[in-house]
Amino acid sequence: MAAGAGEREAEKRGGEGWDTVVRFTDLGPMNALTVDLEDWYHVCGAGKLEDSARWSEYESRVVRNTERILSLLRRHRVRATFFVLGYIAEREPSLVRAVAAEGHEIATHGHFHRRVFDMSPEEFREDLERSLGAIAAASGNTVVGYRAPEWSLRPHTMWALSILRKSGILYDSSMVPLTRMGDASFPRMPCTIRTEDGDLREFPLTTVRCFGENLPFTGGLPLRVTPYFYILSRIRRMNRKGEPALVYIHPWEFDDEQPRIELPRSRKFMHYFNLPSAPRKFAGLLANLPFAPLCEVLGVRD
Ligand SMILES: [Zn+2]
Repeated sequence: MAAGAGEREAEKRGGEGWDTVVRFTDLGPMNALTVDLEDWYHVCGAGKLEDSARWSEYESRVVRNTERILSLLRRHRVRATFFVLGYIAEREPSLVRAVAAEGHEIATHGHFHRRVFDMSPEEFREDLERSLGAIAAASGNTVVGYRAPEWSLRPHTMWALSILRKSGILYDSSMVPLTRMGDASFPRMPCTIRTEDGDLREFPLTTVRCFGENLPFTGGLPLRVTPYFYILSRIRRMNRKGEPALVYIHPWEFDDEQPRIELPRSRKFMHYFNLPSAPRKFAGLLANLPFAPLCEVLGVRD
């Protein structure tokens, strides 16, 4: 993977299982649009709901909710990356086929929505391989991108990057440069990471620097609590500097009538607060910003 002319070395760090040079590249100001394709009950740390043996008992709402996203994307003629849960590819293969048929990139979100730091390297590899098999069977597509459930890559789980590369994955989008999640020293901009098994592109969660902290604002609860015009103007400002942003959404954020899961109060807030604002803000961003699938923004695929 050739480095861009404007490339500069941004960070060097040592660590178990990952090689150490992170480089920024001179990517154009096209933003990445991503959808984590999972159902309403795919919530990490949700007690008995995490038992995948019981998932078939739960109502499937993902087809209808994903159709709402697809119709918005159609209306605005935008293509996105769908990080598909392998379990969804097994349960709803025609949905994954339909997403691929509309020209969107199909990538993987793992199989059973398990956080990376809850798995051993061997369990991680098995979960990843099972998802790749299920997604290939459903869509016929070769997958080159990965996003960890709940952005669960941590400094002590960097071994996952080598496993991803060995399984044919060319880019990851799971790093969160925050103190309370991920790691504050993680890169804030797209970069290349060297692993023992080859280079991997990384597109981390987009953040803004504020009072010495990195703050997220382009997906999930941060998108739902941040005023729309702030999000739009902040991304435009990034784009003027040649920096792409990453926007992400979930099908269950298009479903205010979904069953409410019993969660601790802070997690409940995180999951359900201001849900109806998500589709409105998402539609506004689609109408006003240029977007492309992640593989294209990162130059991994044309
Ligand atoms: Zn997820």
